[in-house]
Amino acid sequence: MDKRVCIIGAGPSGLAQLRAFQQAEEKGIRIPKVICYEKQSNWGGLWNYNWRTGTDEAGNPIHGSMYRQLWSNGPKEGLEFADYTFKEHFGGSIPSYPPREVLFDYIKGRLEKTNFREKIRFNTIVRDVKYESQSTKFIITVRDETLDCEMVEEFDNVVVASGHFSTPNIPYYEGFESFNGRILHAHDFREAREFRDKNILILGTSYSAEDIGSQCWKYGCKSVTVAHRTAPMGYDWPANWQEVPALVKVKGSEAFFKDGSSKLVDSIILCTGYKHHFPFLPDDLRLKTANRLATAGLYKGVVWNKNPKLFYLGMQDQWYTFNMFDAQAWYVRDIILGKISLPSSEIMHDDVLKREIAEDALEDDYACVVYQGAYTKELMDDTDYPSFDVDAANEAFFRWKKAKKKNIMTFRDQGEFISPIDGTVSAAHPKAWKDELDDSMENYLNKKI
Ligand code: FAD
Ligand code: NAP
Repeated sequence: MDKRVCIIGAGPSGLAQLRAFQQAEEKGIRIPKVICYEKQSNWGGLWNYNWRTGTDEAGNPIHGSMYRQLWSNGPKEGLEFADYTFKEHFGGSIPSYPPREVLFDYIKGRLEKTNFREKIRFNTIVRDVKYESQSTKFIITVRDETLDCEMVEEFDNVVVASGHFSTPNIPYYEGFESFNGRILHAHDFREAREFRDKNILILGTSYSAEDIGSQCWKYGCKSVTVAHRTAPMGYDWPANWQEVPALVKVKGSEAFFKDGSSKLVDSIILCTGYKHHFPFLPDDLRLKTANRLATAGLYKGVVWNKNPKLFYLGMQDQWYTFNMFDAQAWYVRDIILGKISLPSSEIMHDDVLKREIAEDALEDDYACVVYQGAYTKELMDDTDYPSFDVDAANEAFFRWKKAKKKNIMTFRDQGEFISPIDGTVSAAHPKAWKDELDDSMENYLNKKI
């Protein structure tokens, strides 16, 4: 194979693509020359914790959006790799909601045993991608920040795996410029202890709002007020937590809401989501989509319809994560290897429309989980990615959702999840999440049963 393949990003999606090629090579298949560019100094994407905010050593925007005390927000049984189980990695059963460091260790584990790290150029940011129709090649300009120099390389295929939860969506509300406290986006939230004894106002009602509020509550903030633009989250919150209608404006330290009420607050945390942002791509190659399950413009959720030599991984809103990225990566690999052929552009276009219509008809979160599980299975069935019991993974998500409804502060204490890959049953972490202040891997694994 003389082809050259460029992967942009070495987070879980980019690593899935490397793993897919590594598996093919292990089976004796000749693979293309693969180069993965990663702007950070290590792999793992968002899971590679970065204490910095703002810009990195080279002046590039910080990618990381994760915070010190982050634990998995869903059961690990929903994201387990089908070709590398938690049991294989950790040598036994571990509880179901691991802290970030534990999942980081798992993500990198399966490639650490291979020589594929050598295919990653770290500290190298992709600056520009162009497609030349005459040569049918992509011309990629990268900047090696260690050598402080720019390089241009040619590729036959490009896989964009640069993530979409890094560039913050930052709304403006009247009075922000004269607010008497700190206004930050969830992307820059790092350490809940900063908000001890503070009254915090959170905007947004999704996972960041729920989890950053919970972290601040756990680490002793005075009160949490969450303003909703559309609808409240509706959980049974602790006594010092209230949900209020949309923010209208702030004046000094006072926040005013749509129902006429107001509250004095010390800090405002904007949990207002992220933007799909690809500053290195020209308009004709650039994905423009909302954060949804059926991404616009991508056949089978991965192939760029307007130029099917370009692929995107992990660009959907995510219930399924690591195992879905794997299914996508295996599928993309097989297109590149010529094992899967693509239909006409009309059929690819219709595929996207069908997926959008099906998503629009989904009635609740349970249906969304089933939809994304079915999508993952659809891709898996066309490749040699080891099949796993998607219904069992869906079941893990359903149990999680019900536990959250029952008690939002104890759902991570639940055990007895069953691995959809090897049937391993998880035990509960011996200490309740709200009381466990040590989020280190060492502590978490020492307590495993
Ligand atoms: P990322 O992890 O974002 O990785 C993208 C990589 O691309 C990064 O390493 C980045 O440095 C690199 N990159 C970007 N631009 C360039 C460039 N121009 N040149 C070179 N390299 C570049 N999922 C779960 O399953 N469970 C959770 O508990 C969970 N918690 C989350 C918590 C937060 C706060 C956030 C924001 C997300 C969370 N997620 C969670 C979802 C998360 O999106 C996925 O788990 C996963 O990290 C996505 O992998 P990715 O590789 O697609 O993107
Ligand atoms: P998100 O799911 O896209 O939600 C964005 C929220 O911002 C929505 O509630 C939206 O409200 C609100 N919003 C947008 N613009 C607004 C505005 N102008 N004013 C007020 N509200 C506005 O983003 P997210 O919550 O940051 O989650 C992103 C990803 O991170 C998810 O995959 C999630 O799983 C992950 N995550 C995981 C953890 C963890 O515990 N491990 C923690 C945090 C995040 P509307 O409903 O009104 O549109």
